[in-house]
Amino acid sequence: MRYLTQSMPIIAVILVGFLPLPGFAEQELVRKNSAEGLVLTAEEQRYLQQKQQLSMCVNPDAMPIGKIEAGKNIGLSADFIHLLAEKINIPVLLIPSQSWLESLQLAEQRQCDILVLAMATPERKKFLDFTDDYLSFPLAIAVSNKQKFISRIEEVLDKQLGIEKGDAYAELLHLLYPAIDLVEVESLHAGLDKVSRNQLYGMIRTLPDISYALQNQYIGELKIAGKLQQQSNLGIATRNDEPLLVGIFNKAIAQVSEQERREIINDWVVIKYESATDYSIGRVAVGVFGLIFIFLLYHYWQLRKYNDCLRCLSITDKLTNINNRLKLDQQLDDALHLAQRYQFDFSIILIDIDHFKNINDKYGHLIGDYAIKTLAQLLSHNIRQIDTLGRWGGEEFLIICPGQTADGGLLLAEKLRSIIDKHSFEHFAHLSCSFGVAAYVEGNNADILLKRADKALYKAKNQGRNQVFTSAEPAYPDD
Ligand code: GH3
Ligand code: MG
Ligand code: MG
Repeated sequence: MRYLTQSMPIIAVILVGFLPLPGFAEQELVRKNSAEGLVLTAEEQRYLQQKQQLSMCVNPDAMPIGKIEAGKNIGLSADFIHLLAEKINIPVLLIPSQSWLESLQLAEQRQCDILVLAMATPERKKFLDFTDDYLSFPLAIAVSNKQKFISRIEEVLDKQLGIEKGDAYAELLHLLYPAIDLVEVESLHAGLDKVSRNQLYGMIRTLPDISYALQNQYIGELKIAGKLQQQSNLGIATRNDEPLLVGIFNKAIAQVSEQERREIINDWVVIKYESATDYSIGRVAVGVFGLIFIFLLYHYWQLRKYNDCLRCLSITDKLTNINNRLKLDQQLDDALHLAQRYQFDFSIILIDIDHFKNINDKYGHLIGDYAIKTLAQLLSHNIRQIDTLGRWGGEEFLIICPGQTADGGLLLAEKLRSIIDKHSFEHFAHLSCSFGVAAYVEGNNADILLKRADKALYKAKNQGRNQVFTSAEPAYPDD
């Protein structure tokens, strides 16, 4: 039932102005007597008098441009030709057809004097003259809802696109884009059906036609994927074997006011199409911000790395790679806070290499450095994870032992002394250390505690070195 025109008689009369003429008994006529403002030459007037009527062909299925329904032409083309016929003051008879292609053939066979709303093409110009354009619509493509927006026909040249047989654009697009894959279809609706069944990628047609066709059908299935740059410029095509006709229509078209034209268009054309949201600028912005974000992230990561590195360097002794004096001070403060607040036990062990000057003197400073490094390793490998070992200065080391009483500190110091004493060094056979141990007692601060450990160490040295001594309690600076 889509093609009402298929059940119509081949020739139908669409509009009555005057009595039908003999030979056109079934056709309707258009005639009004107002030709005000239209100045025709004597030759043109004579021509019209002889003609008495004009025959026209239209596209029978191209709403809102026009269609034939119940033997009548309705739509934009009907309203325009009605207006022009009034201005020229001549009846216009509809020669119905089943398709636009048939209308073109009828025009070529001179059965129609005019084609209403046709576009000029080289092929058509062989048998038709064309008036100035009086309607211009953009070309559009209807596609499946799933497809994306198309702004230029070049984007879809590799896709199969439907176009109605006889559509001027079939010829023009082939000329413009030889590679275009156009598939001729019988009608706009036949093409849209194919698009909805995925047999075609899209259907090309003027925007109002597609918009009109999609208003009630294919809702949710098809959409107008955007209008193209190409315009469909429509005018009246007149038979070129009667060349006066084109001039007459041009004069009539010139008489159509902008308001008249607008009113007719507004009556028929309601266009809804998907406009392109230009995401490209957004994409570029997101890209740029993304890059800036990545750069800042990288920069931040590097800064953190350098900061970590600096922090690490600031608390690490360069020669031995164990904690330096700064870190030992911090750890000692922490241990003191914990001890003062929670009564935690902790001990410190101060270690000094015995007769180290002799090693430097005998083997040189490099070997002396080696001795210090080796000793740092020996010590770090033989203390607990929670103990803090650091280089206190020159050839002195400090170990902070959380949770250790004086006895615990003494035991650890003795163990370390023995390990060092037994260790065989590479460049010299033997090396010993003296140990001073001090356990935290209430009221000690860092200075007092260290002084007590130093005193114990001093005792160890005085008692012949390679000894462990703990400080006597209570121990105050004046002891
Ligand atoms: P004592 O048994 O009384 O401790 O005798 P000692 O020779 O070890 O005397 P002291 O502890 O006073 O001497 C420390 C020496 O350690 C002085 C210095 O030349 C040396 N020394 C300090 N730091 C370094 C270092 O980084 N590398 C080297 N090779 N020697 C160092
Ligand atoms: Mg020393
Ligand atoms: Mg020493």
